[in-house]
This record gives sequence, C-alpha cells and structure tokens, in this order.
Amino acid sequence: MTREELYQSIYTHDTIYLPPHEEGDVPLEVSLGCSWHKCTFCDFARDAFQIHPLEKLEQSLRVLAALRPDDRRMFFLGENVFCMEAEKLLSIIELASTYMPNLKEYAMYSRIDDILRKTDEELVLLRKKGVEALHIGVESGSDSILAERKKGITSAQTVEALLRLDRAGIAYYLTVIPGLGGKTYSYMNAIETARMLNKVHPRNIWCLKLKLWEDTPLYKEAQSGAFDMMTPKQIIKEERLLIQNLSVTDCLFEDTTVLDKYTIRGMLPEQKNVLLHAIDYLLSLEN
Ligand code: SF4
Repeated sequence: MTREELYQSIYTHDTIYLPPHEEGDVPLEVSLGCSWHKCTFCDFARDAFQIHPLEKLEQSLRVLAALRPDDRRMFFLGENVFCMEAEKLLSIIELASTYMPNLKEYAMYSRIDDILRKTDEELVLLRKKGVEALHIGVESGSDSILAERKKGITSAQTVEALLRLDRAGIAYYLTVIPGLGGKTYSYMNAIETARMLNKVHPRNIWCLKLKLWEDTPLYKEAQSGAFDMMTPKQIIKEERLLIQNLSVTDCLFEDTTVLDKYTIRGMLPEQKNVLLHAIDYLLSLEN
C-alpha cells in the first residue's frame, strides 16, 4: 500500500479537520459524531455517535507508528472524545504510547459537561498522562442564547469547568460564535460572552463564523423569521464590542473569517487596540 492508501485505511472520511494550532499533530480517529448532537446551529456532527473499539484503535496506531514514529503530540479525532470515562481515555493513551513511545502530549475536543463529569483527581491524572489541551466550543456567555440554541450548558457551568481545568493544568482553546443571538440579542451576546471569558484563562479565543446550514433547526428558524440572522458587517461589529470588553490575559484572539475574507489575530491584552483598529479599517473598506 502507498502512504496515501495507508492513511485512507484508518480514517472514515477523506478530509481530516484538525483545529487551528493542532495542524502538526498526528491524528488518531477515536470516535465519530457527537454524544450530544442537539445544538440547533450545528452541522459538524453528521455521523452517528460511536467510540471505536480498542481493536480498531490498535490497527490505526500500527499504521501511524509506521508512518510517523517520531511524533510527540497526538490529536484524538471525534467531536467530543473527552466524553469518555477517564479510565477509558487513560487506556487509549496507554495504548497509543505503547505503539508510539515518543508521544508526550494529547489534545482533543470536549464539551463542558464532559469535563464536569470528571473528578478533580481524574483531571489531574489525565494531565499527568499527557492530556495537554482541550478544544471547546463554548459559543456564548448568555444563558438565554445557550438555552435557545440547545447547547445544554450554562455560562456558570462553563466557568466552573474551565477553572477546574486551570487547577488541573490542562490548557483550553475556546470557540465563540458572534451573531449566535441574532440581531435582537447581539449586544447581550457580546457583553455576556466577554463577561464569561474574563472569568477564565483561555490560551486562545477563536471566533467561529455563524453559518446557516440547510437541514439545521436554526436554518429553519431563519427561514420562518424566528431567527434574525445578522449580516457579516453586523457580526463583526458585535465582535468588536466583544473584544472591547475582554480583559483576558496571555490569550491569542483570532478570527479567520472576518467579513467572509479577512483574518485578524492578536494577543490580548497587548494587541487589543491593534485588533480594534484592524476591524475599523476592514469596515471602512466595505463602505
Ligand atoms: S456539542 Fe458541538 S458537535 Fe455537538 S452538537 Fe453541539 S456544536 Fe455540534
């Protein structure tokens, strides 16, 4: 088999999506789909949720060990791999390090409730065994928007879970979605999301572009007029308000889809004004 064919043999889909900042990791497909699968805006989790059996993981690890024996960081693919019980995650880490002894760090996607279901001791043990970072879609700090979009968590739960990660020494990369409240709740989304983020210590805040995917409940709400989708210009103005109100430290803020075609990126708090000026400049180009 060619290298390409070997890769294809271990992944379900032709294209593999790794989050920003994990592109260099060796990806191990641990699960498919999302165990929650209810958020009304989400089109990511099309597969039925399933965790692969250890035999399949072992088979994939054999291939990866042959192709990338020197890799040090592994990304566990799956919409919320961290939903697994700590014991099961630890057994997969153990298995991975048996086949690839150079592995030192692991990262994966998680929901907030996946963290809350684990004890402090389990989080510390997972960190000790190499879980270095979690990627988490927190989406909004507004409880009413979170409830309306069926995210299944509250902002207080988000803060609680992330502070527990701080104590365990596990870093976190957060995704938020300006525009998720529509025009009506735009101000509230910016202010309450900033308020929530200011209580925690994200390594990175990534603004995800809200896209109305056909077949999602939110798309249907927009069609019926129940959700007032914002224009890209209105969304970036909301994002500006979010940045203005952020007081996080040591945090990289980025958005790769500003007005559908630009990227802004800067460290907070040092480059807050650079980010704000960049947004003002990009908005002026559109006038
Ligand atoms: S938790 Fe994430 S992957 Fe799962 S349904 Fe919600 S947005 Fe989609």
